[in-house]
Amino acid sequence: MNLIFLGPPGAGKGTQAGRVEAAHGLVQLSTGDMLRAAVADGSVIGRQAEEIMERGDLVPDDVVVTIIADRITHPDCANGFILDGFPRTVGQAEALDAMLAEKGMKLHAVIEIRVDDAILVERIRTRIAETGGSRADDSEETLKNRLDVYHAQTAPLIPYYQSQGKLLVVDGMKPVDDVSRDIEEKIGLATA
Ligand code: AMP
Repeated sequence: MNLIFLGPPGAGKGTQAGRVEAAHGLVQLSTGDMLRAAVADGSVIGRQAEEIMERGDLVPDDVVVTIIADRITHPDCANGFILDGFPRTVGQAEALDAMLAEKGMKLHAVIEIRVDDAILVERIRTRIAETGGSRADDSEETLKNRLDVYHAQTAPLIPYYQSQGKLLVVDGMKPVDDVSRDIEEKIGLATA
């Protein structure tokens, strides 16, 4: 089963994807984590991505598309994967459709975790307070930009996947365990 978790920064995609990964034997693929690892390694991609990520902008489509195209062919993805933070533009979604078709693979469902902006700002403030801002992009200005970028560039994926009949929406403002239960229910319906 191949899934996408879609939602704004701070919606809980990473947490929820981690739970589904464990429950269903899937692999969670976070382009944000991969890019942070590239920055930490000082690789060419990391050097290109560092400043862009600190501003909260998106790295170029071809960079993340190349990373994902390679990663989904690794043997650990044989049972399926959860894309967390990818795609983030319609261009990336089209590239994903093309690469899956070429590899004879299928996307089963897109889970949108819906959360209001005001709640996200509060959550990120709490995360900064708890972690001392350990992520370079955890600042209020960057968050504001990341939300603007989400609405301008990523939210168009909602109608994109709706028109493919793949979109499943959960209310991400409920307590975390309730969100997990709702996601499991949607996955069950999608794969029944
Ligand atoms: P995340 O951990 O998913 O919030 O990603 C952190 C940052 O990495 C984002 O703000 C972007 O700068 C970059 N990034 C992660 N995934 C993508 C993607 N699919 N396309 C472009 N940039 C990305």
